[in-house]
Amino acid sequence: MDALILAYRINVVMNRKSQLVVLGLFLLGRVAISQNLYIENGWLFTGLDDDVIQNPGLLIQNGKIVAVGIESPVDGYTILELTSQDYVLPGIIDLHAHYRVEGMGVVRDDTVAMPKIFLANGVTTTFPAGEIEPYKMRDLRIKIDQGERPGPRILNSGPYYGNAAPDWNKDFSKEDVYQRVDKWVALGAKGLKAKNINKELLEALIERAHQHGLTVTAHLNSGVGTSVNPQDAILMGIDRVEHFVGGDLLADTTSAYNSLARIDPSDPRLDEIIQLYVKRNVYFDPTINTYGSIAQLKEDAFKFWVDEKAFLTPYYREIIGNPARGSFGDLSEKLFHVKMKVIKRYYDAGGLITLGTDRPYLKQSFLGFQIGGFAAHREMQLLSEAGIPNADVLRIATINGAKAMGLSDRLGSIEVGKWGDVLIIKGNPIESIKSTRTVHTVVKGGVIYSTDELLAAAKGKLGPMSPDDWTNK
Ligand SMILES: [Zn+2]
Repeated sequence: MDALILAYRINVVMNRKSQLVVLGLFLLGRVAISQNLYIENGWLFTGLDDDVIQNPGLLIQNGKIVAVGIESPVDGYTILELTSQDYVLPGIIDLHAHYRVEGMGVVRDDTVAMPKIFLANGVTTTFPAGEIEPYKMRDLRIKIDQGERPGPRILNSGPYYGNAAPDWNKDFSKEDVYQRVDKWVALGAKGLKAKNINKELLEALIERAHQHGLTVTAHLNSGVGTSVNPQDAILMGIDRVEHFVGGDLLADTTSAYNSLARIDPSDPRLDEIIQLYVKRNVYFDPTINTYGSIAQLKEDAFKFWVDEKAFLTPYYREIIGNPARGSFGDLSEKLFHVKMKVIKRYYDAGGLITLGTDRPYLKQSFLGFQIGGFAAHREMQLLSEAGIPNADVLRIATINGAKAMGLSDRLGSIEVGKWGDVLIIKGNPIESIKSTRTVHTVVKGGVIYSTDELLAAAKGKLGPMSPDDWTNK
């Protein structure tokens, strides 16, 4: 199938008199070419200041930012002329970005709609946080990097480490973990993810990943049974933690979900675990939005500003129907409210936070209609509503993710030397974080994409097309 690449027509400015505003012109081609680009007017949130600044002229050459603050456009550059309502932000980095879709009892990583939906939303970098089809995801990453497919940068996680992996064997030894790490690092994994793993094997995973210079994150538990509490994982040297901060307050007599729903978020004993994160520089990815979506909450953040159901295939939409909230939804509502309070305490104590959407799209264990990509904006809104200042929310969504993955020399802010990854929105995000939802143009590595065009190309593509579409594979 032909890869559909959407990019603006390359209007090379030959001299100052022929400068053209290229917004709105499109080119359908097979390979996206990195443009030498000059973005003028509008505003910038570089990530370095707490406020936006007037755009002093942003120059992107060969995919990299080469100047922030250059007066006149240079010959041979495409010009993006912005209005006073346009704000340029560093590309969003989603560190819990599932591409996963389940239907007909089959689980897959979607490489057709999800890459476009992420990119359309200004998410220019994704860590898939446990791939179900890791070879397919690796192939997608290569095709995107070569400009053959539109999509965000993919920092491949490779398969899960632990029982969440379809190919995990309960008899795996440390040696098996070492081999799995070596294999997937050689295949290009940029970080590793554990889920439902025991202490011994998590220790082996962290040790081996660190030998390769990569970070490890995990979906852990309370410590119930053979599970690992984040507190123990931090003492082992884990770099990042998903979903719940853990600690002794999380009773290990029941699952982390049940236990967390019961804690008092103002309990002073929570300080102990928070301080451990701060001391060890461990990043926490709260994925708050997903709990609200699972609970089908009606709060503002969970409303649709784009019809997200329209991205499902008509057949997938039909078989999903309108499921009522189940018991996990009831629990998720409690978790959502606890997490909103915990994250503020964690932030106030100086804890490091990253942005993660955590929106696998599942029919059987329905998690709500909200899709990853759009969910990045929900997560930002929720962090803001939790009481985190908007400039820090934007940094959580950008530079923090880059730092957490060891890529802050290339990603996460608008600075000379970094990759030219930005999104352009309408309205000042410092005044209202919800303005990030108005993203209309995304630049990744100097290639310009239109949000509308990417979304149009993803419509009706998510999930199985017919009853036998996924079953006869
Ligand atoms: Zn997840």
